[in-house]
Amino acid sequence: MNTLSIRDVRTILTAPEGIDLVVVKVETNEPSIYGLGCATFTQRSLAVQTAVDAYLKPFLIGKDPLCSEDIWQSAIVSAYWRNGPVLGNALSGVDMALWDIKGKVAGMPVYQLLGGKCREAAAVYRHADGKDKQAVLERVLALREEGYRYIRCQMGGYGGRGHVLHTPEGAQPGAYFDPAAYTRSVVRLFDFLRTHLGPDLELLHDTHERLMPVDALRLAKEMEPYHLFFLEDILPPEEIDWLRVIRNQCATPLALGELFNNPREWLPLVREQLIDYIRVHISQIGGLTPARKLAVLCESFGVKTAWHGPGDVSPIGHAANVHLDVASPNFGIQEWCGLSERLQEIFPGCPQVKDGYVYPNDQPGWGIDIDEAKALTHPCSHKLPQWTQARLPDGTAVRP
Ligand code: MG
Repeated sequence: MNTLSIRDVRTILTAPEGIDLVVVKVETNEPSIYGLGCATFTQRSLAVQTAVDAYLKPFLIGKDPLCSEDIWQSAIVSAYWRNGPVLGNALSGVDMALWDIKGKVAGMPVYQLLGGKCREAAAVYRHADGKDKQAVLERVLALREEGYRYIRCQMGGYGGRGHVLHTPEGAQPGAYFDPAAYTRSVVRLFDFLRTHLGPDLELLHDTHERLMPVDALRLAKEMEPYHLFFLEDILPPEEIDWLRVIRNQCATPLALGELFNNPREWLPLVREQLIDYIRVHISQIGGLTPARKLAVLCESFGVKTAWHGPGDVSPIGHAANVHLDVASPNFGIQEWCGLSERLQEIFPGCPQVKDGYVYPNDQPGWGIDIDEAKALTHPCSHKLPQWTQARLPDGTAVRP
């Protein structure tokens, strides 16, 4: 083969399930060898598209796609300002595509390039949500029946809903929630679930960074008797210094990090062993290149991985999560939202779930492709979601 070089870089925007997804395709001078990456930032998809098409594409054309480390190191400082979303998403898409190319050139799945499998498949956790305790329990039982053994339980989503809100006249529209009522309802929910399910099933809960630090501490302590697998995102990145207080006072396992994009945010948490699971968003922090280093860093400190796996990650991003999962000795758990038949049709080669475990595809690279014609029949809406317009009962705008 002649020396490979990057011939073109393109973004493909698609929303098969109504969630805007951003995919990056890197093409080489060998027509059969191209790579795919996930650059999804649902709420800012056009900004990511511009970052890739207008800025990264001219930076990348003509470069050797196998020099993924050099490209990552030089691309992240190519705008001088760095370490934020949008540019991080754009670079993630490119980086994953380069690893896909590397796998195809090697004739190996990416997990082989990371050292090979430590396990055949990754255990996943699913979401059970319901409007009341009974509805959550029924959803949990249905998931257990399907073979899942780790289940995240929410009542009314993040912050709960259905509480009586006391708002002032003329309050702004928004996604209102009452932190105090939410906290009380979570404790009642898990008391109910453990009573009906016993101790065997692993239960999780996501606070979505919505509580004041002292309330977060109290909730983490009150959840101790219910033996959570972990409590997710107990604090926002702006308040992580409070983690030391929480850690010193309670034994509820903590998982944190989906909003992180700067290594300075996760380094103290790992070094001081303030968390049990790291759960950054690989499609945002810059792709597999920084994620595999973060996984190794965590291994040294006894911290396990739990990469963010929501619906606003493309199947390529999910595949990247799974390849890293099976190759990491310190893998903990993988968040899994389920991939619809429509997604699997547009992205042939999706990772497959059987009996609570997700299996990577064994084809070279990520083992996953995109049917561009079908993808284009599901255009993005570029609408702002309502849930990010979070407000307290007195109308104050707060972090979602
Ligand atoms: Mg979460």
